[in-house]
Amino acid sequence: RILKFIVTFILLMGSVSNSLAQVSSGRLKDKVAIVTGAASGNGKAIAVLFANEGAKVIPADINGIEVRKIADTLKQNQSDVTPVEVDVTREDDVQRMINSALGRFGRIDILVNNAGVFDELLPAGEVSDEIWDRVISTNLTAPMRGIRAVIPVFEKQGGGVIVNTASIAGFTGARGGGAAYVASKHGLIGLTKNVAFNYKDKNIRCNAVAPGRVETNLRVNSENLIGSKTAHDKSIDNWRDIETKVSEGYITNMRKCTPDEIAKVVLFLASDEASFVNGSIFVADGGWTSY
Ligand code: NAD
Repeated sequence: RILKFIVTFILLMGSVSNSLAQVSSGRLKDKVAIVTGAASGNGKAIAVLFANEGAKVIPADINGIEVRKIADTLKQNQSDVTPVEVDVTREDDVQRMINSALGRFGRIDILVNNAGVFDELLPAGEVSDEIWDRVISTNLTAPMRGIRAVIPVFEKQGGGVIVNTASIAGFTGARGGGAAYVASKHGLIGLTKNVAFNYKDKNIRCNAVAPGRVETNLRVNSENLIGSKTAHDKSIDNWRDIETKVSEGYITNMRKCTPDEIAKVVLFLASDEASFVNGSIFVADGGWTSY
């Protein structure tokens, strides 16, 4: 009986320590990671998960107040976090973000280009220059500039990892986006593959996650940033149209995932576990685009 008790006790302790290890297994221990769009939604979840996995995180966002709040909370858990207020559409801001990371930590291991804005779901025949420029500069030009700024750092260090937040709108024509958003995400996927191929021999990996629908404030935040009343109204009309089609069964319904579910995919792509994964577009949409 005593022997049985001892064996059960040892097994129990083993499973307890395993489950604790799963909470934080240090998969990014001491890696330095920049995450853009970290004040909200996917970016916030990525920054928090990375910090919990041992990374030194630079959460960057145009919403400086929010990103500093997140950093303060993470610091209470002993995480090493340096928030940066940045407008990723401004080249000098992007360079300042890279310099802040280098100044604080002396190196950069991971860049997550996640900041993004939505459009008003309008087709090419109706899209305004204002929305087009805003969406392309945030979702496509900004990641390119981040990559352009970090590549020399990675080359000097002997490697690094880039993860871009694309979307299923990056390989479908009209799911979850209008002309500007769809074009920006298609472009981002092309950029991801181009970077992966060109720097594959320099120990630099570049992948993208392509989420389906995620429970975030993407549309609301984008309206604030773009600030167009007409665009906003049209967007709502278009959404109503889509929701009606869903309820009538023309479009297969799609579960929205949580930002944490996306963050876990990004964690894998950013970690050494994905050492041979390069130029990959990792779809996380619950199967919506598989039919
Ligand atoms: P979100 O609005 O919650 O987060 C986006 C963040 O980016 C915000 O904190 C915002 O302040 C920041 N941002 C916007 N423009 C910026 C700029 N110029 N400079 C710096 N920061 C800026 O939305 P989200 O859904 O978490 O979006 C994150 C990424 O996920 C985006 O690239 C989006 O396209 C992508 N995505 C979202 C969904 C979805 O359903 N929510 C689906 C597929 C892909």
